Amino acid sequence: MSVTKLNIVVVGAGIVGASIAYHLSRSKDVAVTVLERNEPCTGASGHSFAWLNSFGKDPVSYHHFNRRSMDIWDRFARRLGGDLDLHWGGELRWEWAPERAGALRQRIVQLQAWGYPIRIIPSAELRELEPGLSPGPVLTASFSDIDGRVDPRRVIAACLQRACEAGAAVHTHTPANKLCLDGQGSIEAVSTPNGEIGCDVVVLANGTATTELAATAGVHIPQQHSPGVVIRTDPQPPILKNVSVLHLPPIDEDRHEIHLRQSADGTLYIGQGSQESVDQDDSQEHADALLSRAIHYLPALAGARAVPTPVGYRPMPIDELPVIGFCDAAPNLYIALMHSGVTLAPLVGELATLEIVDNARVEMLAPYRPERFRFAN
Ligand SMILES: Cc1cc2nc3c(=O)[nH]c(=O)nc-3n(C[C@H](O)[C@H](O)[C@H](O)COP(=O)(O)OP(=O)(O)OC[C@H]3O[C@@H](n4cnc5c(N)ncnc54)[C@H](O)[C@@H]3O)c2cc1C
Repeated sequence: MSVTKLNIVVVGAGIVGASIAYHLSRSKDVAVTVLERNEPCTGASGHSFAWLNSFGKDPVSYHHFNRRSMDIWDRFARRLGGDLDLHWGGELRWEWAPERAGALRQRIVQLQAWGYPIRIIPSAELRELEPGLSPGPVLTASFSDIDGRVDPRRVIAACLQRACEAGAAVHTHTPANKLCLDGQGSIEAVSTPNGEIGCDVVVLANGTATTELAATAGVHIPQQHSPGVVIRTDPQPPILKNVSVLHLPPIDEDRHEIHLRQSADGTLYIGQGSQESVDQDDSQEHADALLSRAIHYLPALAGARAVPTPVGYRPMPIDELPVIGFCDAAPNLYIALMHSGVTLAPLVGELATLEIVDNARVEMLAPYRPERFRFAN
């Protein structure tokens, strides 16, 4: 006896859409179609620093939300299989300026109270962890044991491959132009240049473009404009011996701090400020300046070449918290829009599948419902 499957269209093949497509496709009762207007990983996921963390995540419920996703990342990676360049080496930072050192100590007290395994370390331990560092004066240093990094491109490729093996269809260079409504306000099809694709549920995981597409179904999802730049270097011998991510303090009062990681192929990724800092300078001069700040603390990088990378745009809801769930205005429209999507991808894939396939209402998602914007401008 043939069973009618739930037809689900996932719009967007970044890390969030790919994870949702993968998790949905593990259910025998669904038929998944992924629409991607470019190639997979060409949105925010391809520009991400890809630090798996819950360091700067407020309020506490959002901290725990990220933490929970960190805790299931390994299972997600194991199920996907293959080499995702997933590395759990922790995160190391220090400060030399009294005000910044005080703020770091305060943050550590808060994170420890939330149960996050981060601690103040003596400067000797900092040097033990990363012998290549030339840190200069250290007022406060911290090490966060459970942070990691990953390669979003590999994760997306693995998710889509597993989804296809389970029967999903992935259409690249196929934009979803419009959501087509029936008389009751539900979506009956997604319009593409190749025609309409009928559906029972539509998942919008199309990052910054979510606002525009959701509006075609009368759903309002306001976002902030949040450009960011993570430059790269040519491949270098292993510079970091242990940690996954380094935060380096400003070299003087006129320049921002930077963050840095090295992937398995030797490429270094460098951004300035925090994970959320706005930056839209993709010039060679800016890339060289970021690298020179890294060389200040990591002299072995002296021969590296900085490669500028185009500006990336974070999917950033107006209140900076994720938007996840079905919409009252279009009951079969499911939104999955968020910053920190690399950290959150496994959990969001898992929970969205519970809600879409099993009709569950996951209580943990209550703060993130799209309805909170019903009356927003
Ligand atoms: C500079 C920077 C640094 C970051 N650092 C971190 C970090 O350290 N840790 C962390 O966890 N997160 C970080 N983030 C955030 C994280 O990268 C994003 O939250 C995550 O990549 C979002 O994934 P996504 O799949 O939702 O969106 P995207 O990766 O943007 O994917 C959306 C996809 O939808 C496609 N699309 C758009 N419109 C349509 C349409 N109409 N039809 C079909 N396809 C469409 C796009 O082409 C794109 O491929 C960073 C982001 C940036 C930009």
